Amino acid sequence: MRINKEKCIGCGRCTDYCMLGCITRDGKKVSINEEECVDCGVCLRAGVCAADAIYMPDENFEYPRAVRMQFSDPGVQHPALKAWGRGTEEAKTNDVTGKFGYGEYGLLLEFGRPCTGTRFTEVEKVTTAMRRLDIPILEDNPLYGLLEEDGSGRFKKEYVNEKVLSAILELRIEEKDLEYIITTILKLLEDVDTVVSVGLVTRFGENGSLPVVDKLAAMNIPVRPNAKINVGLGRPLIP
Ligand code: SF4
Ligand code: SF4
Repeated sequence: MRINKEKCIGCGRCTDYCMLGCITRDGKKVSINEEECVDCGVCLRAGVCAADAIYMPDENFEYPRAVRMQFSDPGVQHPALKAWGRGTEEAKTNDVTGKFGYGEYGLLLEFGRPCTGTRFTEVEKVTTAMRRLDIPILEDNPLYGLLEEDGSGRFKKEYVNEKVLSAILELRIEEKDLEYIITTILKLLEDVDTVVSVGLVTRFGENGSLPVVDKLAAMNIPVRPNAKINVGLGRPLIP
């Protein structure tokens, strides 16, 4: 995103609308730090600029820069996966998709939210480690297309330093590997320079039980009461 210096009157109204703090004001001079801006479009969509000075330059729609808005702007559709915003509906729709079945878990790592953003350099610390453990990166994950094709989990060099508002990595792990994988990831995240939310996707047992809660408790990981529970009312998944 950019500010047209000819049009800007330096009112400063837009500065509060950037959650990443990319819009700064020095007297009457207001500017956007383009290197840190993730092209989320909030400052533009807010419609606060009476001078019509905020605009998206044409080059922001070109790769590799274009991935910023694909992962940051909810009004932009991922070109390959056709999902809006961050390119994924997340594993939280498992109640209707059945993506993760019994005997396995979906492991969900969301990098960068809230209000922090992430560079793919930070995501790569996890994707490469998962590949070393022979855990595949799911092909329907929006990050998949940005990775090298050699299976290393490294990002293609043109993308690795791009910054986005949030990137969601979904993994499929076997039930028996839960403790080892979770322990490994929590250790890895100590070296990741952004906020990361870790989620686990599991199906209820036929008797309505959630055995994973006890497993996590044994690992000293509390299950927060704000966990998402979908009940598939729209399209119930029949086992
Ligand atoms: S597009 Fe988003 S990140 Fe960039 S300056 Fe505007 S609000 Fe900030
Ligand atoms: S709201 Fe518009 S005119 Fe005011 S500082 Fe921001 S870009 Fe400039």
